[in-house]
Amino acid sequence: MSERYSRQIPLVSAEGQERLAGSKVAIIGCGGLGCNVMTQLAVAGVGEMVLVDRDTPSESDLNRQFVYAGRRSAPKAELAAEWVRQVSERTEAVPMNLELDRRNVASILKGCDVAVDCLDNNESRLVLNAGVQKEGIPLVHGAVDGPLGQVTVIVPGKTACLECFLPEIKSGMIPAIGSVVSVIGGIEATETIKMISGKGKPLVGRLLSAKASTWDIRIVELEKRPGCEGCSGND
Ligand SMILES: [Zn+2]
Repeated sequence: MSERYSRQIPLVSAEGQERLAGSKVAIIGCGGLGCNVMTQLAVAGVGEMVLVDRDTPSESDLNRQFVYAGRRSAPKAELAAEWVRQVSERTEAVPMNLELDRRNVASILKGCDVAVDCLDNNESRLVLNAGVQKEGIPLVHGAVDGPLGQVTVIVPGKTACLECFLPEIKSGMIPAIGSVVSVIGGIEATETIKMISGKGKPLVGRLLSAKASTWDIRIVELEKRPGCEGCSGND
């Protein structure tokens, strides 16, 4: 393994680094969270990344979506793929300029080791949740709402699913400061690296909540909600 990863191999192990190089990760949403997650996973040496988004960048995205600075004339998925190749020529980036729906979610997730929720609305999150439950793929969930952020790792058949606790997350226009989004995206990327490398203790079945205005951070155990339609019978 090359010099490039010499500072992180003591943490992820040489074997873990090989696993990262051989891994395929789906980044669902190329907004503020997605920009941070794709960048950190690319420089960490993830081998392949699928980048899913249906939008083109707008002026109001630029306080947090640094990938699109000065490049707003194409779909986010395509600009994101160019960016990923730029920061790591070792990462294969596959752009998918589309909206996640119940018909395409299985083919998007096909062959992926981990999916990362970088979405900004609950409707798409429920589609993603159903997809990972069906395909049996671990999901790193992250969300930001103003000064609040949260991250957890969902393992189908083992942990609570997104639908077990999702009603706590709001939808609609979400206020956001880029630096706060970066913290939550950084935690999501770290959890992805842990899941792939097998090193560390990921937030499997545990929800980390952070409040940036005071930096109150807490972690609670998540339990499956009895009768949840998202994961009932998936044990
Ligand atoms: Zn559930």
